[in-house]
Amino acid sequence: MADIIKLLPDHVANQIAAGEVVQRPASVVKELMENAIDAGSTSIKLIIKDGGKALIQVVDDGVGMSETDARLSFERHATSKISSAQDLFNLETKGFRGEALASIAAIAHVDMQTRTSSNEVGTHLKIEGSKIVSQDVVATPKGTSISVKNLFFNIPARRNFLKSNQVELRHITDEFHRVALVHPNIEFHFYNNGSEIFNLPIAKHRQRIVHIFGSKMESRLVPVNEETEVVKVSGFICKPEFAKKSRGEQFFFANNRFIKSPYLHHAVVAAFEGLIKSDTYPGYFLFLDVDPSSIDINIHPTKTEVKFDDENTLYAILRSTIKHSLGQFNVAPVLDFDHDPNLDTPYSYKEKGVVIPKVTVDATFNPFQEAPTKKNTGNSFRKQSTKGWEDLYEGLGNQNDHNEFSSVVIESESEEQGTLYSDKDVEEHLASTFQLRRKYVVSTVKSGMLVIHQNRAHERILFEKFLGEITVKEGVSQQLLFPLELTFNKQELAVLQEIKESLTNIGFAFQSLEEETVKVTGVPMMVPESGIGTVLDRLIADYMEGYADSSISQAEMLAKALSRNLAVRTGDVLDQESQLTLVNNLFACKEPTLSPFQKITYTIISEGDIDKKFN
Ligand code: ADP
Ligand code: MG
Repeated sequence: MADIIKLLPDHVANQIAAGEVVQRPASVVKELMENAIDAGSTSIKLIIKDGGKALIQVVDDGVGMSETDARLSFERHATSKISSAQDLFNLETKGFRGEALASIAAIAHVDMQTRTSSNEVGTHLKIEGSKIVSQDVVATPKGTSISVKNLFFNIPARRNFLKSNQVELRHITDEFHRVALVHPNIEFHFYNNGSEIFNLPIAKHRQRIVHIFGSKMESRLVPVNEETEVVKVSGFICKPEFAKKSRGEQFFFANNRFIKSPYLHHAVVAAFEGLIKSDTYPGYFLFLDVDPSSIDINIHPTKTEVKFDDENTLYAILRSTIKHSLGQFNVAPVLDFDHDPNLDTPYSYKEKGVVIPKVTVDATFNPFQEAPTKKNTGNSFRKQSTKGWEDLYEGLGNQNDHNEFSSVVIESESEEQGTLYSDKDVEEHLASTFQLRRKYVVSTVKSGMLVIHQNRAHERILFEKFLGEITVKEGVSQQLLFPLELTFNKQELAVLQEIKESLTNIGFAFQSLEEETVKVTGVPMMVPESGIGTVLDRLIADYMEGYADSSISQAEMLAKALSRNLAVRTGDVLDQESQLTLVNNLFACKEPTLSPFQKITYTIISEGDIDKKFN
C-alpha cells in the first residue's frame, strides 16, 4: 500500500488550532487584550460592533512591533515571551503559546497597525484567512491596533453557531471584566456599537471594582489581606447580606491571571458558612500571588484552569483569611439571614400555626387565581377543569369518603373545612385536600391517592400563566403610589433593557432604564411591593445564568425565572383554599405532569398499591 500520511498545510493546521483558541468573539477579545497588557500598555481601548461578529478592535499604547515582528507575530508558535521550556515555569506574561494571532488570522479578516517608539513610521498589515493581503508603511501612534472583522468567515458552521449579539456581547463583557479587574493600573475604554459602555480610569483595586460593578458596590466590599510563605492573598469579599442567587461576581486571580477553581471557591463558601443561605453565593474579588514555579497554568488551552502545587494549604489559608476578615469587620453577628422579609408572601403562614391552631387567614387573598372569594373558587374551578381533571374525580362525586381525609388534617383547622364544603356545588366536585409535611398536597382521586409536590406544581402553574402573559401582553399591573428606586450595575441594566418588553407585558413598569438608578412605577399583581428588588435581582441572575442556553426563548426563560422565584416553597403552609386552588389550577395547565424544570409535579398512589401494603 502506498504511503498515505501527509503533513497538513499551515493554513489548515492554523484553522484547526483556531478551533481551540477561538470559540467565540470573546476569546478574540481576551487574546488581544492580553497581548496589549503583555506589551506594557497603560491605556487600552476595546471597540466592538454587533457582538463582535462585525468588529473586534483593540488599540493599545504598548511597545509595538517592528516590521519583521509584525509579520512574524502571525506565524504559529511565534512568540517573544518564552524561548525555552524552562521559561514556562517562570511566566510573567499572559501569553506564551504564540498561537493566538496565527489562529485568529486563520479564521477572520485582520488589520494591524503597529509602531515601536524607535521607529518613525509603522507597519500596516492585512491578513485574510492566513494570507497576507497587503503590507504598507503607515503613520500611526506608538503601540498596536488590531481589528478583527468577519470572524469565522471561512467556517460557516462556526459562524452559525454564534449566539445573538447581546449574548456574545455579554461574554465579551465577562472577559473585559476579568482583564480590567486585575489591571487597575491600566486605563480601559470599551465602546459598543459606537457608544462608550466602560470608561475605567487608573485607580486602586477597590475603585476599579466600583467603576465596573456600580456605586452600590462601595459599601459592600470588605478587604482581605494576608501574607504567608505560600501565598499572598489580597482583594475583597462582599458582605454576606449581599450574597446572590447567581454565581456572578466571583473572581479569583492567580498571579494576575483570571482563574476558575471550584476547590478554592469552596474554601470561600466554607468561610461564609452559617452567614449566608445555602442556595446563595458570596461575591468575591480575590488576588492570589504565588511563586510562579508552584503553579501550572498550562493544563487547559483557554487557560482558566490552573494547578497549584499545594492546594490543600491554599484552601486552609484562604478559608481562615476570609473568616478573619469577616470577623474583623464585624459583619458576622448582626445578620438575621434566616428571615428575608422580601420573600414573605401572604400565603406563607410559617411558624404562626404552632401557637394556636386557629390561624388568622386573609380569606380574600388567593395567590393562585384572580378571583378572591371562596365562592368564586368553586366557580372558576368548574370552568377551568376541562383537561382530564374531572376524569380523576369521576365516580367520587357524591361519596363522602373523602371526608375521612379531612379528619386527619393536621395543619388546617377542621371547622374551616366545614364551611368550605358547605357549598353544595363545590362539594359535588371536590375531594378534600391536606398538606403533608408542608411539602405535598394530598387528595383523593378515583384511582387512589393524589400527591402533589406543592413547589413544583406552583412553578408549573405560574410558568404557564407568565408565559401566556408575556406572549399576549395581558399582565395585570399594580401601579406603585411612590415609584421605587433601585440601583443596578451596567451589566444588570443591559439585561433589564433586553428583557424590558417581556417585563412590561407581565405588568412591570419602568420610568427609564438608562441610568444606574431605575425607577419602578408598576409591578405584576403577584409581586409584593417589598419583594420587588429581590425578584428583579433574581430574575436578572437567573436570566444571566440561562443565557448560554439559546435553545429556549426569552419568554420561556423569563417565565421560568419568575415561576422559580415566586412559587410557594417547601415549608410554606397552605391554607385549605390555597391547597384546593393549587390542585385545580395544576390540572388546568397544559402540561400538568412536569414542572418547568422537568421535574415530576404529582403522583397517584393507586388503590392497588395501598392494598398491597395490607397483604
Ligand atoms: P503569545 O501572546 O502567546 O506570544 P500571540 O500570537 O498572541 O502569542 O502573539 C505573538 C507575538 O506577537 C507576541 O509574542 C508579541 O511579541 C507580539 N504581539 C502580539 N500582540 C502585540 C501587541 N499588542 N503589542 C506588541 N506586540 C504584540
Ligand atoms: Mg497572546
